[in-house]
Amino acid sequence: MTTFAARMASVQPSATLKVAAEDERLRRAGHPVVDFSAGEPDFPTPEHVKAAGKTATDQNFTRYTPASGIPELRQAICDRYRNDYGVEITPAEVLMTVGGKQALFNTALALIDPGDEVITHAPYWPTIPEQVKLVGGVPVIVKTRSEDGFALRAAEVIAAITPKTKAIILNSPANPTGALIDEATVAAIADAAAPQGIWIIVDLCYEQLIYERVAHNLPKVLFDRHRERTVLAGSASKSYAMTGWRCGWTIAPKALTSVFNTIQGQSTSNICSITQKAVLAAVQGPQTAVTTMLDEYRTRRDRIHEWLTASPGIQCVKPNGAFYLFPNISGLLGHGGIMTSEDFAQALLEKEHVVVTAGEAFDAPGFLRISYATSMEQLREGATRILRFAEQLQPSPTV
Ligand code: PMP
Repeated sequence: MTTFAARMASVQPSATLKVAAEDERLRRAGHPVVDFSAGEPDFPTPEHVKAAGKTATDQNFTRYTPASGIPELRQAICDRYRNDYGVEITPAEVLMTVGGKQALFNTALALIDPGDEVITHAPYWPTIPEQVKLVGGVPVIVKTRSEDGFALRAAEVIAAITPKTKAIILNSPANPTGALIDEATVAAIADAAAPQGIWIIVDLCYEQLIYERVAHNLPKVLFDRHRERTVLAGSASKSYAMTGWRCGWTIAPKALTSVFNTIQGQSTSNICSITQKAVLAAVQGPQTAVTTMLDEYRTRRDRIHEWLTASPGIQCVKPNGAFYLFPNISGLLGHGGIMTSEDFAQALLEKEHVVVTAGEAFDAPGFLRISYATSMEQLREGATRILRFAEQLQPSPTV
């Protein structure tokens, strides 16, 4: 009999990691795999950022730092948010974390008691509800729909509030849909949450990856209404192509940041000292690499969207942010033994060696997540294979 903690019984392992294992198996067998499952930039970390990491190592900046991160980096995060959003933050409200994942996990540990309800929206990044479950909370899911671009409706979030609601977690731009939550929606949610003391946590991991010039000043909207119960979770991973360096941050009220400091002080301590110097260069230095990557992602998004929607069985919203396409392929299901998007993803992998993530992982059966954080050649080749596969699944026209 196993004696693992009861809290682990309902928590799922990462589905995207399972896909990666299958990908690896096919590659080893010598198949020309096209991988659309990556949740990370294919670009290298910008040169000046790598150089700052090298200098830190050469200068022996290799010891413990304060658990919350070096003061100059926390100050640099404040400066960046002032510059980007016009909000005033002090370093005492900032804490550096091992990626956005730890930012969200610290928040869950600090705020959620067993039985507390936490509202979030689907299709979701699975880590969000799984972390809630890990600390004994109950995820309450508000669905969004492809028909209206996966727009989150404030009224539906507000209707999900109960006396047990402790927090609302929003993700914008969202993984896997690329949808943005608009300012008015966040304002309405904050106005409803504020009188009840409900926390609003915003995962801003893809905040620099927004393709059109749209109003998306969620920090300001929340700080103006609900600052004492707002947590912003940021990350260097996607903006600066730094997934392996592991750096994120929380921006939260001082008292909560001090609780985060205790959690981190008794678990991981500070994030890597070298990473901190590299991220300092990333947030303080020129932002041209961010723009260059964004421009390239936009071109790729437009191409892959155009190619895939040539199939009558594939319906797809053009996403406004992040680097995923989230097509509805339900029109292709029900033929040739392929009944679900999971069957589709598995058969696509076996027949055409294209790796995608099935919508089931994001609470959205009938959809696929296609990451376009890969080269144009791979996108072209993968799209060709997906279209060929889709064509075989279309019911033949009746004569
Ligand atoms: N939030 C979302 C929505 C994500 O997709 C990811 C990465 N897949 C993260 C947070 C966290 O990434 P990291 O821990 O690398 O910052």
